[in-house]
Amino acid sequence: MTIRDVLSDADERTNVQDADASLMRAARLHKKFEPLTIDLVPRPSPRASDVLVQVKACGIVPNVVNVLNYSLESVVSLPPLPAIFGLDAAGVVAAKGELVHGVEVGDRVYVNPIRYCGSCRYCRMGQHAGCEYSTLNGYFGMGSKALQMFQDYPYGGYAEYMTAPQYSLVKLPENVSFETAARWGYLGTAYAALRRASVDMSSTVLINGVSGTLGVGGVLFALALGVPKILGVGRDIELLERVKAIDPHRIHVHSTNSRISVAEWVRSHTDGCGADVVLDALPTGAPAEAFLAALDALGKCGRHVNCSGVLECVPINVPKYTVSSQTLIGSCWFTTAQGQEMAELAASGRVNLDVFENRGYALEDINTALAEVNERKGGFSNFVVLPDERRSK
Ligand SMILES: [Zn+2]
Repeated sequence: MTIRDVLSDADERTNVQDADASLMRAARLHKKFEPLTIDLVPRPSPRASDVLVQVKACGIVPNVVNVLNYSLESVVSLPPLPAIFGLDAAGVVAAKGELVHGVEVGDRVYVNPIRYCGSCRYCRMGQHAGCEYSTLNGYFGMGSKALQMFQDYPYGGYAEYMTAPQYSLVKLPENVSFETAARWGYLGTAYAALRRASVDMSSTVLINGVSGTLGVGGVLFALALGVPKILGVGRDIELLERVKAIDPHRIHVHSTNSRISVAEWVRSHTDGCGADVVLDALPTGAPAEAFLAALDALGKCGRHVNCSGVLECVPINVPKYTVSSQTLIGSCWFTTAQGQEMAELAASGRVNLDVFENRGYALEDINTALAEVNERKGGFSNFVVLPDERRSK
């Protein structure tokens, strides 16, 4: 039995919370198209193989607005209401179940939101995206049985505490802040896509949508993986220059406002060969033409990996990619193991995550944050909710 208590005064909320440690504050959606409300709900206890995480930061990814306004309802399933959303949470382990080993209370962790059954054919092969229960906790479900995962794990990161299975935890090094870790989902999506496309120290990588939230992550991890030449395509000249400034010798940028086509530009940088790898990181709703313009720049024997938000059907020139021995790859999310690899790249200094501008919001300001997320400066902005911070008066 939950206790709903919408509070308007921050002091009153503080007093209620302090008076009863069995409760926690959570931002919940009660009804479609209405603002989130701050509710006091029972603080969950971890089951045997789960941990309880005190959330220190949770990302407000640009696409969460599309999720909360139900514009993606035709392609994904959403949790039953009232629901606590919040995709990318990072925090401190506050308690653990009796079957959890190797994780201790006080550990700094990122909670990978991917949930799956663990026992189906795909899960046994480590291919969790194929699981019918496949769900992004606090966000949406991809599998036909996602509702079960929403019932098992109803706590997203827009709350003071959440439960998480032990298999979901990425241990964070000291040099990764909670705010940066709340970006792990988009960074990990880009990292996994690069790994699936087998990029290495000889690859030329074209990133379509380079200055967006996924694109900037792709640049940072392509650099970390030793890619010698990154070709970035975007619209906004100022943002493109900012991307180039990350590593002017290895990054080249091109605006789609140019009269030169993407394919022509890429060939001019690759002795006419085209890119070895195309990472498509276009935002949700981007048109098919923008996708095809980058695909056209893929060289022979190249790999195209898509983690874009293109929703419409794209006409593919089948004979061309067949005779060119090209590979088309779809890539959704990343594994906890890959999340840990990223943490280790950060710990060793191989990846530089200092480029982000963090903008933090108290939990009670979450509706303001959702309204302001479109003010971001491309992929360099990092909007986060900080559940244990109080609204400044
Ligand atoms: Zn499964």
